[in-house]
This record gives sequence, C-alpha cells and structure tokens, in this order.
Amino acid sequence: MSSILTLPATAPRDRLHRPLHDLRISVMDRCNFRCPYCMPRSTFHEHYQFLKPTERLSFEEITRLVHLFVEMGVKKLRLTGGEPLLRPNLTELIAELGAIDGVEDIALTTNGVLLEKYATELQASGLKRITVSLDSLDPGVFTQMSGGFQGLEQVLTGLQAAQQVGLNPIKINVVVQRGVNDHTLLDLLEHFRGSGIIVRCIEYMDVGNRNHWQRQHVVPSKELLQRIQACWPVHKLSGNYHGEVAERYAYDDGGGEIGFISSVTQTFCGSCTRARLSSEGVFYTCLFATHGLDLKIPMRSGASDDELRELIRNAWEQRDDRYSELRSVQSINASTTHKIEMYYIGG
Ligand code: SAM
Ligand code: SF4
Ligand code: SF4
Repeated sequence: MSSILTLPATAPRDRLHRPLHDLRISVMDRCNFRCPYCMPRSTFHEHYQFLKPTERLSFEEITRLVHLFVEMGVKKLRLTGGEPLLRPNLTELIAELGAIDGVEDIALTTNGVLLEKYATELQASGLKRITVSLDSLDPGVFTQMSGGFQGLEQVLTGLQAAQQVGLNPIKINVVVQRGVNDHTLLDLLEHFRGSGIIVRCIEYMDVGNRNHWQRQHVVPSKELLQRIQACWPVHKLSGNYHGEVAERYAYDDGGGEIGFISSVTQTFCGSCTRARLSSEGVFYTCLFATHGLDLKIPMRSGASDDELRELIRNAWEQRDDRYSELRSVQSINASTTHKIEMYYIGG
C-alpha cells in the first residue's frame, strides 16, 4: 500500500486535513463522442465554441505546473478530457511528465476510439496504465450512449492493441444508467472475465448541469453486486492504497477483478486527495466545483514559480469540498446548483 506519509514536509493539507496526491489534467476539451450523460448534443452541437488551441495550456505550461504540484505532494497524474487522444502530440507531453522526478504514475482515460492508432506510441512514451470507457457491448446501446456514434469495434480493437503493447492493468469504466445500459452489464462482464481487464461500474453522477441527472437513473452498486453475485460469486478485496475510489471485488472462480465506484450511494470525500486542472488552466479542488482558480492568466502574465506555488497552496489549504457527502445528507438540487461540466475538467 503506497502511503501518504511519504509526502514532502511542505505539502499542504486542506481544511479537512486531506493532502494533495493526485492531479487529473484535462488536455482537450473537445471530444469525438457526445455521450448524453457528459456532452449532450443539445448543448455541444456543431456550433458550440470549444477553446481555441492557444487558449489551451501548452505542454510547457502543463509541465511547469506539474513540477509545482509534485513539490506539493502530487505523485499520480491522470490525463483526461474531453477526449485526450484528440490532443496533437500527446505522447510528447506524457514523456515530459514521466521525466519529472517525483511522478510515480501516469494514467490516461480515453473513449478508446483512437487507441489502436496510438497504443504503441503511448506505451513507448512511458504511459503506465490506461482506462477505457465502454458502456455496453450491445451495438445499439453503445451508439445511444456515445450520442449516436458507431465505434464499438474500434474500441474493442483498441483494447486488444493496448493489451498487446502491455499497457496493463487495463481498466474499463462503465457508467451504469438504469433503463439505459444496466441490462447489458452482465454480458459485458462475461465478455471480459478471464481477460485480465478490470471492469469498473460507475454510478451515474450529477456532474455539471447539462445531463439532466435524476437520482432514479442511478443503479446503486449494492444492487449491481447482487445481480452479479447471482451469476458469479465474488469476494471483496482490500484496497490498494489510501484514497482509492473503487471498491474491489474478485470472482471466486479466478475470473478476475471488478470495481465499483459509488460516489452517489457510498461517498468517499473523506479520503479525497484529487485535484483537477482544466484544459485552459483552471485549477479545481472538486469534481463538483462551482468555481476554480485560473492559473493560466498569472502564468501568461509572468508570475514566478513562487507566486504560482503560493496560489496553489492557498487554494488547497482553503479546500473544504465534500459535495458527494453533502448530497447524501442534504437535498442539494443537482440541477440548479451551477457546477463545472465533466468534459471540461475531465473525469
Ligand atoms: N473521453 C474520455 C472517456 O470517456 O474516457 C475521458 C473523459 S470522460 C469525462 C472521463 C470519465 O468520466 C469516463 O469514464 C466517463 O464515462 C465518465 N463520466 C462522464 N460523465 C459522467 C457522469 N455523469 N457520471 C459518471 N461518470 C461520468
Ligand atoms: Fe466524450 Fe468521454 Fe464525455 Fe463521452 S464521457 S462525451 S467520450 S468526454
Ligand atoms: Fe472529492 Fe469532491 Fe468527489 Fe468528494 S465530491 S470525492 S471532494 S471530488
């Protein structure tokens, strides 16, 4: 189990005494899908104004910030989006980030459409792990959940390519929505049993305001676990590290591992050590944040490393976010509280 006790002495703690350990970096706000739960077409239509390339942080800017974050305790990086594989020359960034002393782990979350094309390059650049989002193996449900795009075969071929080049352990994220894809989950699990790929079932979340989230569309992990147990007995595994979001289970018959990310029904804010950096350089201390700290403006106005360090430190020390916990005890109105969209800060 890696320990948060190995943090630098200067590492900041937030108001709930949580250190800063993981940074999720959105490298691209655009996406080649329009998953209705994330980037519904009604909002993200053909005239939607995404960032201009110069408005996105450059690789030098991202690398500079990561150096500072590492000094404050960050050890794990996850590159995400939008769709990160749409960012030109992404592997150059991965190689630069991997060379930073103190970065222990770099992972990537992708919808997998471009994975076959980039798998070899990604592995060669030093990427350690990959998570592929795949909501269903039923072609009709897949197309519905990608917002009208085909691509299931491409994603499956991409997964094979990733396995062949050794981007292991590969994880698959399935956002489970009642009445949309929950009836196809067991088929998906069966397909990947014994493959070494870890499927993680994610409770549908009220991220942002555009997906018209309703609690009745969430399938609690406990319910999924019962459905899975009825087919294949499973047992609980212990956590890999402090702050791990997934609860891990293994099939009793050796068929591999499944994870559950239950941020609606079993919240984990108490051990949340994750921060996020948007593609335009805004720093967020919670997935459900209503505002963030712009780091691009000071960086482009000549701020020194000390000044940037101070800004980041203050933001983390002020942090008291625990949205998911509050959602479960108060009736936060998920649709009217203004929140940052998932495509913008990444999952
Ligand atoms: N485009 C990439 C992908 O889909 O893997 C990376 C970005 S995507 C925003 C990151 C993760 O967030 C995906 O696994 C996606 O399924 C998940 N996600 C997006 N909206 C969600 C929601 N409302 N609830 C739960 N997970 C969500
Ligand atoms: Fe794109 Fe990923 Fe959001 Fe789907 S979940 S719209 S693939 S960013
Ligand atoms: Fe962390 Fe915010 Fe999610 Fe809680 S709601 S686990 S504080 S990102």
